[in-house]
Amino acid sequence: MGAFVLTFLLAFGCGDLCRGEAVAHYARLFADAGYGRLPNERAGFLIRETGGTLTFAPWHHSDFASARYRGAVPANVIAVVHTHPSSASPWPSAHDARVARTLALPVIVVAKHAVTIATPDGATRELFGGRWFANRYSTASTP
Ligand SMILES: [Zn+2]
Repeated sequence: MGAFVLTFLLAFGCGDLCRGEAVAHYARLFADAGYGRLPNERAGFLIRETGGTLTFAPWHHSDFASARYRGAVPANVIAVVHTHPSSASPWPSAHDARVARTLALPVIVVAKHAVTIATPDGATRELFGGRWFANRYSTASTP
């Protein structure tokens, strides 16, 4: 029974990837991408530091529509995070799913109407939907 519950949580819980600290990084990256209005993706690595703090290592911007990274994956990375412009689907692309499998890391898509994920086992699902971004800021700006 305990093993079943643990398996269930590992399969469906999103843990650190849904913490407020992580969502703040998603929101900052989304703002950097012009709130989905810019045609170019922004991306970076979500990192769990030794003490449990979540930090973000942004990739250099490029003129390519798709974000690209060359080099070794830094230590303690727990996800690759990137934006999709509002003109594109908020769901992970076939390429995103391949990257998740290849790196054995979740690939998170941050878009205007959803935050979605491609997991290394080939699954895709929604972490936050609808008005995730508006809700975050309406809460933050309420006195
Ligand atoms: Zn993508």
